[in-house]
Amino acid sequence: MSFSSLGLDALLLKAVNEQGYTKPTPIQLKAIPLILAKKDVLAGAQTGTGKTAGFTLPLLQLLSQKKSNSQTKEVRALILTPTRELAAQVGESVTTYGKYLNLQSTVIFGGVGFNPQKAILKKGVDILTATPGRLLDHIEQKTLNLSKVEFLVLDEADRMLDMGFIHDIKKVLALLPKNRQNLLFSATFSNEIKKLADGLLNNPILIEVAKRNESSAQVSQKVYTLDKERKKDLLVHLIKEEKMQQALVFTKTKHGANKLCEHLIRCGISSAAIHGNKSQGARTKALDDLKKGSVRILVATDIAARGIDIDQLPHVINYELPNISEDYVHRIGRTGRAGNVGIAISLVCGEELEYLKSIERLMKKEIAQEILTGFTSKQVYTPEVKVKRRNSRSRSNMSSSNTSSKYESKSPIVKTKHKEEKSFSSHKRNENNTTPRRSRNYAR
Ligand code: AMP
Repeated sequence: MSFSSLGLDALLLKAVNEQGYTKPTPIQLKAIPLILAKKDVLAGAQTGTGKTAGFTLPLLQLLSQKKSNSQTKEVRALILTPTRELAAQVGESVTTYGKYLNLQSTVIFGGVGFNPQKAILKKGVDILTATPGRLLDHIEQKTLNLSKVEFLVLDEADRMLDMGFIHDIKKVLALLPKNRQNLLFSATFSNEIKKLADGLLNNPILIEVAKRNESSAQVSQKVYTLDKERKKDLLVHLIKEEKMQQALVFTKTKHGANKLCEHLIRCGISSAAIHGNKSQGARTKALDDLKKGSVRILVATDIAARGIDIDQLPHVINYELPNISEDYVHRIGRTGRAGNVGIAISLVCGEELEYLKSIERLMKKEIAQEILTGFTSKQVYTPEVKVKRRNSRSRSNMSSSNTSSKYESKSPIVKTKHKEEKSFSSHKRNENNTTPRRSRNYAR
């Protein structure tokens, strides 16, 4: 199906065409007609699925078709995002797709000057993309009026709740007119999200393009279990051996991100760190430097990395696993976007094995384990999640990404080993496994 069959008008199609998009992504196919039909939508879409265009395109069309009721130029569409980076990226999409329409838009978030934003808001904008905190600052200062909002979009709503924005969201909702169209996008669905959706949406249509809490099929995932003190060395080894030119590396803490970044630089790997203590300018610069290739590695904490959209980012590395399993899904969603393949590598030490278990439970799948001599763990990991695979051949297909197979052929010290293999061979409880064919395969 083409974009033109979705009912989008020529000026939007022209802008889409200029982006080089040849056909709509699944979320766009589902969301665009529903939004154009003025339905409230609850969308479960993973990161990197093209969801931004999925709501931006129909929104632009509806706004341009209908003249504003107001004499003064008040905000007609409000898009709320959890982070500054995501706000900037959504705002960029609004500008890109709406370039041939006569609609004004802007983005407001904290960490940058208040007054320039105030001046733009004073002139009037149709579409406002904002993070909740700075939005409320403007409301308090009476530099923003939300009484004419016709469309509300909550983007990455799960993340907004994780970041504790629920009270801010409620405050904002209380200021909006009752009669409006609402769109809620979330990569994962928790009970809190359902509760928020119930209070916000009117007879919503639920659309999902991937199963809940499922990671993208485009991302090949692997785990190295090793001792904590070996992580730095393995990371440097992987970056160098696999000749990684662009990777996003996640740490749990801001301090950890700084320390790791310094270590990588000392090892001759150009790197930058991005986290909440960095100024907005430094965050934007680091991201730009990674995008244009002047740094190879961006070390980031979860909050700072949220919303980062780098076309064809090949690698995401979890230097430390997140303790919230959904964050893992968000992290690896930075790679394998819009039809590209990506590789997600996790370095897991003994104290993180429980996190790994709950991530696998959430995704209902086991992550392939790679063993690299010299970088092994004292602790054996026995997974809980059973993977449905027909034979051992498909298992090796799953574990081998382009990079790992390239790597294996180059270096004799790498062995690919799967976690069930380990458990089948070394744990008595599996001898009576109820799936004998699997056992036979593994025994061979
Ligand atoms: P999003 O999920 O909105 O963050 O989008 C992820 C990436 O997909 C962005 O880099 C978009 O530019 C790109 N994208 C969006 N729609 C399409 C499409 N129909 N075809 C190809 N790429 C797309």
